[in-house]
Amino acid sequence: MEKRKFKPTKIVKIGNLKIGSKYPIRIKGMIKGDLEDVGEVIKEARILEEEGAEAIRVAIEKEKDLKIKKNLEKVLNVPLVADVHFHYKLALKSIEEGFVAIRLNPLNIYKKNEVREIAKEAKKARISIRVGVNSGGFREDFSSPKILAEKMVKVAREYIKVLEKENFFDIIVSLKAQNVEATILANRIFSKRFDYPLQLGITATGPFLEGVTKSALGIGMLLFEGIGNCIRISLTEESFWEIRVAKYILQALNLRKFGPEIISCPACSRCKVNLKKIVEDFKKKLREEKVEKPVRIAIMGCIVNGPGEAYQADLGVAFGRNKGVIFKKDEILGYCKAQKLIENLMMWINGSRKKIKEKIR
Ligand code: SF4
Repeated sequence: MEKRKFKPTKIVKIGNLKIGSKYPIRIKGMIKGDLEDVGEVIKEARILEEEGAEAIRVAIEKEKDLKIKKNLEKVLNVPLVADVHFHYKLALKSIEEGFVAIRLNPLNIYKKNEVREIAKEAKKARISIRVGVNSGGFREDFSSPKILAEKMVKVAREYIKVLEKENFFDIIVSLKAQNVEATILANRIFSKRFDYPLQLGITATGPFLEGVTKSALGIGMLLFEGIGNCIRISLTEESFWEIRVAKYILQALNLRKFGPEIISCPACSRCKVNLKKIVEDFKKKLREEKVEKPVRIAIMGCIVNGPGEAYQADLGVAFGRNKGVIFKKDEILGYCKAQKLIENLMMWINGSRKKIKEKIR
C-alpha cells in the first residue's frame, strides 16, 4: 500500500481506539434498532462489529436508554459512543454510565454553563467528546455552500473555545451537511485552522444509490486530500451497509485493505454470459468462505479483451461462450469450461499453484 498522505492532527481516543494523524481511518457504525428491543439491538451491534465497525454510536434519548450500554458491552469488543441531543443532564448521565465517548450537538446543547459542566465531568472520566455540527440543525437557508461551511466551522470553533477553557482537549469534530460541497468546504476550512481529528460524513444522503454516490464523492475527495480520520456513512438502509460502503471507499482510495477487491467489466455485447449474476454469486462465495486475502480479482466478460483490460488484477477470469481463461497478470494459467471457471479461480485464490489442463472442444 502506498504511503498515506495525511494532515497531522492531535490523537484522540474513543476507549482504546486511537483516532488521528497516522492512525488508519477509522470506521464508525450506528445502531438503528429500537433500544427497547435489547435482543435485536445486540444482534445488530454484533453484525456491525463483524462487518468491521471499530466504534459504535448509540442514540441516548432518555434515561432508560442508558442501560443498553451494559447489555452491549457483554457481547462487543468495540467502544460505544453515546449520542446525546438537547438534554445536557443526559450527557452527564451517559458519562456516569461509563460511555467512553459522547457526541454533543452544539446546536441543541449550547448553554455555556452546561457545556462547561459536561467538559469537567468528561475530563474527570477521561473520555472524549465529539463536537458534531449538523447543518440540519440550522433554521436558516444559506445562500451558498461556502456561507454554510463557514457557519458550521464558526459553530464548532465557539464550542471548542468553551471546552478548551475547561482544559478539555480530547475533541473530535464532525461537520456534516446534506450538501456535498458545503461539507467538503467546511472540513477543508476546519482542517486548515485546527488540529483536532475529523470524523467525516455526509448527512441525510437520500436513498441507497444517491447516498452511496454522495458519500463516496464528499468523503472521498476529503480523504484524497489527506483530511479526515474517521468516517461514518449515513444511508437510509440497514446499518451494516454503512460499514460496507465505508470499507469500499477506503479500499478504493488505497487507504486500507479489507480482503479481496473485485474488478469486473461492464459486459458489453461481446459478453456471452450473465456476468452480473456471476459476479454477484462470486461475491457471495467470497463472503461465505470468509476469504480475507487482499487480492485484486478480475471477472471479465470476454476472452478477447478481458485479460488485457484486467492487467492490474492479481488473478482473473475471462468468459467465452462456453469456455473461459484464468490468468495471473499476463500469464495464462489455463482454459476450462465456463461453468468450472469460478471453481478454478477459487482454488487459485486459496493458494493452488496447479495450472489447469483441461481438454476443451
Ligand atoms: Fe466488453 Fe470484453 Fe471489455 Fe467486457 S472485457 S467490456 S465483454 S470488451
